[in-house]
Amino acid sequence: MLNTLPPDVDLDKLRAALIKRIRLPEWCDCYFWAGRCTPNERGRFCVDGHEWMVARLVWLLARGSVPERILQTCQHPNCVRLEHLTPGTHRDCMLGGSASKRYVARLHPEKWARKENNAHHLRPWLSQGERNGNAKLKVEDVRQIRALVRGGASPRAVARQFKITQSNVSQIVRLKLWKHVPAV
Ligand SMILES: [Zn+2]
Repeated sequence: MLNTLPPDVDLDKLRAALIKRIRLPEWCDCYFWAGRCTPNERGRFCVDGHEWMVARLVWLLARGSVPERILQTCQHPNCVRLEHLTPGTHRDCMLGGSASKRYVARLHPEKWARKENNAHHLRPWLSQGERNGNAKLKVEDVRQIRALVRGGASPRAVARQFKITQSNVSQIVRLKLWKHVPAV
Protein backbone atom coordinates (compact mmCIF):
# COMPACT_ATOMS: atom_id res chain seq x y z
CA MET A 1 0.00 0.00 0.00
CA LEU A 2 1.49 3.32 -1.05
CA ASN A 3 1.91 5.93 1.64
CA THR A 4 3.77 8.74 -0.06
CA LEU A 5 3.83 10.51 -3.39
CA PRO A 6 7.01 10.86 -5.40
CA PRO A 7 8.65 14.20 -4.55
CA ASP A 8 8.32 15.54 -8.10
CA VAL A 9 4.54 15.21 -8.29
CA ASP A 10 2.85 18.53 -9.04
CA LEU A 11 0.34 18.68 -6.19
CA ASP A 12 -1.71 21.50 -7.71
CA LYS A 13 -2.11 19.54 -10.92
CA LEU A 14 -3.02 16.43 -8.98
CA ARG A 15 -5.65 18.32 -6.97
CA ALA A 16 -7.12 19.77 -10.16
CA ALA A 17 -7.23 16.32 -11.76
CA LEU A 18 -9.09 14.93 -8.76
CA ILE A 19 -11.54 17.82 -8.60
CA LYS A 20 -12.39 17.31 -12.27
CA ARG A 21 -13.61 13.82 -11.42
CA ILE A 22 -15.75 14.70 -8.42
CA ARG A 23 -19.50 15.23 -8.66
CA LEU A 24 -21.96 16.53 -6.12
CA PRO A 25 -25.17 14.53 -5.91
CA GLU A 26 -28.31 16.42 -5.04
CA TRP A 27 -29.61 14.00 -2.44
CA CYS A 28 -26.71 13.94 0.00
CA ASP A 29 -23.58 15.81 0.95
CA CYS A 30 -21.16 13.21 -0.39
CA TYR A 31 -18.49 13.94 -2.99
CA PHE A 32 -18.82 11.20 -5.57
CA TRP A 33 -15.86 9.98 -7.51
CA ALA A 34 -16.75 9.90 -11.18
CA GLY A 35 -13.45 8.49 -12.37
CA ARG A 36 -12.30 4.92 -12.51
CA CYS A 37 -13.47 2.62 -9.71
CA THR A 38 -12.71 -0.86 -8.43
CA PRO A 39 -15.51 -3.44 -8.80
CA ASN A 40 -16.57 -2.59 -5.25
CA GLU A 41 -16.87 1.07 -6.26
CA ARG A 42 -13.83 2.50 -4.54
CA GLY A 43 -12.35 5.30 -6.58
CA ARG A 44 -8.96 4.64 -8.17
CA PHE A 45 -6.50 7.08 -9.62
CA CYS A 46 -3.13 6.61 -11.19
CA VAL A 47 -0.26 8.83 -10.03
CA ASP A 48 3.07 8.42 -11.73
CA GLY A 49 2.26 4.87 -12.79
CA HIS A 50 0.96 3.82 -9.36
CA GLU A 51 -2.63 2.99 -8.57
CA TRP A 52 -4.04 4.88 -5.60
CA MET A 53 -7.33 4.63 -3.77
CA VAL A 54 -8.73 8.13 -4.20
CA ALA A 55 -9.78 8.27 -0.55
CA ARG A 56 -6.15 7.71 0.44
CA LEU A 57 -4.97 10.42 -1.93
CA VAL A 58 -7.49 12.88 -0.56
CA TRP A 59 -6.41 12.03 2.97
CA LEU A 60 -2.74 12.39 2.08
CA LEU A 61 -3.28 15.77 0.40
CA ALA A 62 -5.18 16.98 3.45
CA ARG A 63 -3.09 15.62 6.26
CA GLY A 64 0.34 15.08 4.80
CA SER A 65 0.34 11.38 5.70
CA VAL A 66 -2.06 8.53 5.39
CA PRO A 67 -3.05 5.78 7.86
CA GLU A 68 -2.87 2.07 7.07
CA ARG A 69 -6.61 1.87 6.46
CA ILE A 70 -9.29 4.38 5.72
CA LEU A 71 -12.94 3.74 6.45
CA GLN A 72 -16.03 5.27 4.97
CA THR A 73 -18.39 6.81 7.50
CA CYS A 74 -21.13 7.39 4.93
CA GLN A 75 -22.88 4.70 2.91
CA HIS A 76 -21.29 5.47 -0.44
CA PRO A 77 -18.09 3.58 -1.22
CA ASN A 78 -17.23 6.00 -4.03
CA CYS A 79 -17.51 9.08 -1.81
CA VAL A 80 -14.18 10.83 -1.33
CA ARG A 81 -15.21 13.62 0.98
CA LEU A 82 -12.66 13.99 3.77
CA GLU A 83 -15.33 14.38 6.44
CA HIS A 84 -16.78 11.04 5.40
CA LEU A 85 -13.49 9.21 5.87
CA THR A 86 -11.86 8.01 9.03
CA PRO A 87 -8.85 5.87 9.88
CA GLY A 88 -9.75 2.29 10.82
CA THR A 89 -8.54 -1.25 11.37
CA HIS A 90 -8.76 -4.06 8.88
CA ARG A 91 -11.67 -5.56 10.86
CA ASP A 92 -13.54 -2.25 10.73
CA CYS A 93 -12.96 -2.19 6.99
CA MET A 94 -14.54 -5.58 6.51
CA LEU A 95 -17.58 -4.63 8.55
CA GLY A 96 -17.84 -1.19 6.99
CA GLY A 97 -17.41 -2.61 3.53
CA SER A 98 -20.28 -5.03 3.74
CA ALA A 99 -22.54 -2.46 5.39
CA SER A 100 -21.86 0.04 2.62
CA LYS A 101 -22.47 -2.52 -0.05
CA ARG A 102 -25.89 -3.20 1.32
CA TYR A 103 -26.91 0.43 1.15
CA VAL A 104 -25.17 1.63 -1.94
CA ALA A 105 -27.44 3.03 -4.58
CA ARG A 106 -26.16 2.18 -8.02
CA LEU A 107 -27.14 5.34 -9.76
CA HIS A 108 -26.06 6.34 -13.18
CA PRO A 109 -23.71 9.35 -13.29
CA GLU A 110 -26.14 11.17 -15.58
CA LYS A 111 -28.62 11.28 -12.76
CA TRP A 112 -26.15 13.22 -10.65
CA ALA A 113 -26.68 16.88 -10.28
CA ARG A 114 -25.05 18.84 -13.04
CA LYS A 115 -22.79 20.84 -10.86
CA GLU A 116 -19.56 20.20 -12.71
CA ASN A 117 -19.07 23.86 -13.46
CA ASN A 118 -18.99 24.65 -9.80
CA ALA A 119 -16.54 21.91 -9.01
CA HIS A 120 -13.58 24.27 -8.89
CA HIS A 121 -14.61 25.42 -5.42
CA LEU A 122 -14.43 21.86 -4.19
CA ARG A 123 -11.54 20.90 -2.04
CA PRO A 124 -12.36 17.54 -0.52
CA TRP A 125 -9.04 17.45 1.29
CA LEU A 126 -10.04 20.43 3.42
CA SER A 127 -12.43 19.78 6.26
CA GLN A 128 -15.41 22.06 6.69
CA GLY A 129 -13.74 24.25 9.32
CA GLU A 130 -10.63 24.66 7.25
CA ARG A 131 -12.62 25.68 4.22
CA ASN A 132 -13.85 28.70 6.11
CA GLY A 133 -10.77 30.76 6.78
CA ASN A 134 -12.37 32.41 9.78
CA ALA A 135 -13.54 29.36 11.61
CA LYS A 136 -10.39 27.57 12.59
CA LEU A 137 -8.18 30.41 13.65
CA LYS A 138 -7.91 31.92 17.04
CA VAL A 139 -7.19 35.56 17.74
CA GLU A 140 -3.66 34.61 18.68
CA ASP A 141 -3.20 32.88 15.30
CA VAL A 142 -4.43 35.95 13.46
CA ARG A 143 -1.92 38.16 15.27
CA GLN A 144 0.81 35.67 14.53
CA ILE A 145 -0.11 35.43 10.85
CA ARG A 146 0.06 39.19 10.47
CA ALA A 147 3.35 39.38 12.32
CA LEU A 148 4.90 36.60 10.26
CA VAL A 149 3.92 38.02 6.88
CA ARG A 150 4.89 41.56 7.85
CA GLY A 151 8.15 40.16 9.12
CA GLY A 152 8.89 38.79 5.66
CA ALA A 153 7.54 35.23 5.80
CA SER A 154 6.02 33.98 2.55
CA PRO A 155 2.21 33.99 2.63
CA ARG A 156 2.30 30.54 1.10
CA ALA A 157 4.36 29.10 3.93
CA VAL A 158 2.18 30.85 6.49
CA ALA A 159 -0.95 29.51 4.80
CA ARG A 160 0.44 26.01 5.02
CA GLN A 161 1.45 26.43 8.63
CA PHE A 162 -2.04 27.52 9.67
CA LYS A 163 -3.84 25.24 7.21
CA ILE A 164 -5.69 28.07 5.52
CA THR A 165 -5.57 29.31 1.96
CA GLN A 166 -3.05 31.80 0.72
CA SER A 167 -5.86 34.18 -0.17
CA ASN A 168 -7.09 33.97 3.40
CA VAL A 169 -3.64 34.89 4.65
CA SER A 170 -3.57 37.89 2.37
CA GLN A 171 -7.06 38.95 3.46
CA ILE A 172 -6.06 38.64 7.10
CA VAL A 173 -2.94 40.71 6.54
CA ARG A 174 -4.86 43.39 4.61
CA LEU A 175 -7.45 43.45 7.41
CA LYS A 176 -10.23 42.24 5.13
CA LEU A 177 -10.73 39.31 7.46
CA TRP A 178 -10.60 39.43 11.23
CA LYS A 179 -11.06 43.19 11.17
CA HIS A 180 -12.08 43.04 14.80
CA VAL A 181 -8.60 41.93 15.78
CA PRO A 182 -6.66 45.16 15.78
CA ALA A 183 -3.42 45.27 13.85
CA VAL A 184 -0.41 45.62 16.12
ZN1 LIG B 1 -19.95 10.49 1.72
